[in-house]
Amino acid sequence: MELKLDLLSNAIDSLREALEKYEQGSEQKIRAYKFSVLHLSHFLELLFKYHVSQSHPLLIYKNPFSKNIAKENTITLWDAIQFLKNEGAEFSVDFNKDLEWLKALRNDIEHHTFELDILEVRRTLGRIIRATEEFNEHHGLLDVAKHLGGTHLKIYQELVDEYKASLANARIAAKGLTENGETYDCSGCGELGVGAYIGHEIVCQLCNAIDHLYQCFRCEDRFREDQASSWNDEYDEYICEYCSDHIFNRD
Ligand SMILES: [Zn+2]
Ligand SMILES: [Zn+2]
Repeated sequence: MELKLDLLSNAIDSLREALEKYEQGSEQKIRAYKFSVLHLSHFLELLFKYHVSQSHPLLIYKNPFSKNIAKENTITLWDAIQFLKNEGAEFSVDFNKDLEWLKALRNDIEHHTFELDILEVRRTLGRIIRATEEFNEHHGLLDVAKHLGGTHLKIYQELVDEYKASLANARIAAKGLTENGETYDCSGCGELGVGAYIGHEIVCQLCNAIDHLYQCFRCEDRFREDQASSWNDEYDEYICEYCSDHIFNRD
């Protein structure tokens, strides 16, 4: 019984760490993502062992019949998953693939040969959290959110909510791709900070809408359609509303 509680509280501790590192991760702090991956792997391992221990606590040992149980190795994440499969639990193909991906990345990280594509890491961590949540829910195993509070719960819920996770990723993508250091609001989906300035256009990283920018013939800055008007149809020239004000409202 004590063992079971230890597994669960250690699992939740690892999840908290994974969520904190996920939140800290950024272009500058790639190391934080690395630790998020490691903590999340640890969380999953402990969580699935905890699920196995629900059938019998001794089943988390490779050899539950050993005469010296304290010295026995415990099962791996994959043993635990196989046990749950044998019990009739379903693991979706995608969940399996994501777990394989996480395992490979964890190995690479441990052997210092990893290359991190930040968005791929964020997307996959989100997918794994959502799949785990669904698995727990479907099998009535554990309500993870109940064990979290404050910031941890907020980040967890963002990850569980696919739209919120995509929105956070789109903002990070926009920051990375924009050519002038600024991000823009999207006139297509209406989200803030998701547009990147690419090739004189604003390209939304969430809904892919493209806002064409019109160059003002007078100040040569570029403006969205609603801030620029046609100056000369024949030559396809535009004027921004500031220059237009300047010309027409002069005393
Ligand atoms: Zn958009
Ligand atoms: Zn202008």
